[in-house]
Amino acid sequence: MIVSKRLNVLAIGIIVLLGCIATSLTSYFFAKQSVYEHVSEQILPLSSDNIYSEIQRDLLQPTLISSLMAHDSFVHDWYLEGEKTPDQMVNYLKNIQTKYDTITAFFVSEQTRKYYHSSGVLKTVSESDVHDAWYFEAKSSSLPNVINIDSDTADAERITVFVNYRVIDNSGVFLGVIGVGLSMNLVDSLIEYFDARYGRNVYFIDRSGEVMFNGAHQHDLSFRETNKASFEQAFSSMVTADSSSVSFNAPQGKTVFLNSRYIPEFNWYLIVEQVEDGDTEEVERALIINLVLSGVVSLCILAFVHWVTRGYSNKLERMARYDHLTGAVNRQTLDVLFQKAIGSSNKKQEALSLVLIDIDHFKKVNDNFGHQAGDKVISGVARIMKNLLHKEDIICRWGGEEFLFILSNTDKSKATSLIKTLLNRIEDTKFDVGESTVSITISAGLTQLNTDESLPQAIARADARLYQAKKEGRNTFRSG
Ligand code: GH3
Ligand code: MG
Ligand code: MG
Repeated sequence: MIVSKRLNVLAIGIIVLLGCIATSLTSYFFAKQSVYEHVSEQILPLSSDNIYSEIQRDLLQPTLISSLMAHDSFVHDWYLEGEKTPDQMVNYLKNIQTKYDTITAFFVSEQTRKYYHSSGVLKTVSESDVHDAWYFEAKSSSLPNVINIDSDTADAERITVFVNYRVIDNSGVFLGVIGVGLSMNLVDSLIEYFDARYGRNVYFIDRSGEVMFNGAHQHDLSFRETNKASFEQAFSSMVTADSSSVSFNAPQGKTVFLNSRYIPEFNWYLIVEQVEDGDTEEVERALIINLVLSGVVSLCILAFVHWVTRGYSNKLERMARYDHLTGAVNRQTLDVLFQKAIGSSNKKQEALSLVLIDIDHFKKVNDNFGHQAGDKVISGVARIMKNLLHKEDIICRWGGEEFLFILSNTDKSKATSLIKTLLNRIEDTKFDVGESTVSITISAGLTQLNTDESLPQAIARADARLYQAKKEGRNTFRSG
C-alpha cells in the first residue's frame, strides 16, 4: 500500500514535470522562432533600407554637381572651340574639385578622347583598353548619367564612386563625359557604423554573386570563407530578385540571416548579414529559468501531494486499525498482531497470556446515565488498561464493553497479579460522566497460551473463564 502510494505521488510528480517541460520547450521554440522572424523580416530589411537611403543621399550631391558641369556653357563653348586651351579646362575642374570638396573632377572629350583631370590631361581613352570601358558604357547609355565604382585613374589605389554624366549639346550631339568622383569612405564608414552598432556585416555583391566591396572593416571574412558553399548558394538565389531574405544553418548552432537589396545606381546588391548566436541567449536563459522553476514547482507539488496523501492515508490506516472511542486495536487487526506476538514468544521462548474482560452490568450505566455517559466509562476503562499494560502488550476492543489482552512475556501468575491490580483500580475509580460519577466493576477470564495454539482456541478458553467469573459473582477473574 505504501509502495503504491509512493508510485502514485511519483506519477503525479512526473506528469507535472513533463507538463512544465513541455510548456517551457514550446514557449522556447516559439520565442526563438519569433526572434528569427524578427531578424529576417524586420531588422535586416530595415538596416538595408537605412543603408540604401544613406547611399542615395551621399550620391545625390555629386550627381547634381555633375549635371551642373554637363550643362555648363563654358564646357560646351570650350569644346566647340576645339579644346584650344587645355589649361582652362584643367583649372575649371580644379575649381570644381575645391569648391565641392570632391576627390576628383574629370572630363573626357568625344572629339579628342582626352581625359582631362584637375591635375592635367592624364591620358587618351581607347575602346581597346578595358579600364576605359566605363566611358563607352556611358556614351551608349540612354540615361543622363551612369554611376561607376572603380579605381581612380588618377590614383589606382583608391576606390571611387564616379558619376559619369553625358554632355549633350543643344542639337543632341554627344560631346563627352563629365563628372566628379567621391570616395567610398562614406559608404565604408556607414558599413562600419552598422557593424559596430548592430554586429551586422554589410557588403556588396555583383550580379554574378561575387563579393565586391566589404568595407574597410572586414571582419568575419574567415567565417564566410569556411561556409563558402552555403554563402555562394545564398548569393546565387538572391541575385534573381530585387530584394530577398535567405537564412541557412552554419556549424556550431549558428544561423546566418542574409538580406539583399538591389542598388540600381551601382548595379550591385547590398547584403546585410547577421550571424545569430548571441541574440537568442536571452531566450535560452529564459528556458533554463523556466526549467529550473518547473523543477522547483514539480518538487513543491510532489511534496504537497505526498504530505496530503500521507496525512489522509495515515488517518485511513489508523481508522482501519484502531477503535475510535478507546484507541485500542480492533478485531480485524488483532489476527495480524496475534500472529506476530505468538511468533515472537515462540522464538524467545517466552510465555504469552490472553485475558477477556467484560464490564459488569453495563446496561445499567447506559440506562441510568445515558449512552454518552456509557461511552465515557468505556474510554475511561481503556485508559486505565493502557496505563497498566506494557507497550508491547495488545489491547483489543473485542465487543461493546468487552476487551481482550494479549500479554507478551507474561505467564499465568504474572497475568493474575496484573488482573488483580486492574480489578482494584477499576473498582476504586469514580468515572466522571458530567453531572455525576459512576463506579463500575469488571470481570475477567484469563489463560496462558499453549504453543501451536490458534487464537480462537485460546479465546474460547478465556471466554469460558470469563463466563465462570460472571456466574460466580462478578468483579473477579477466573483462570485456566
Ligand atoms: P453483564 O454483567 O452480564 O455483562 O451485564 P451487562 O449489562 O454488561 O450485559 P451485556 O454485556 O449483555 O450488555 C452490554 C451492554 O453494553 C449492551 C449495550 O447496550 C452496551 N454497549 C455495548 N457497546 C456500547 C458502547 O459502545 N457504548 C455504550 N454506551 N454502550 C454500549
Ligand atoms: Mg458484554
Ligand atoms: Mg457486560
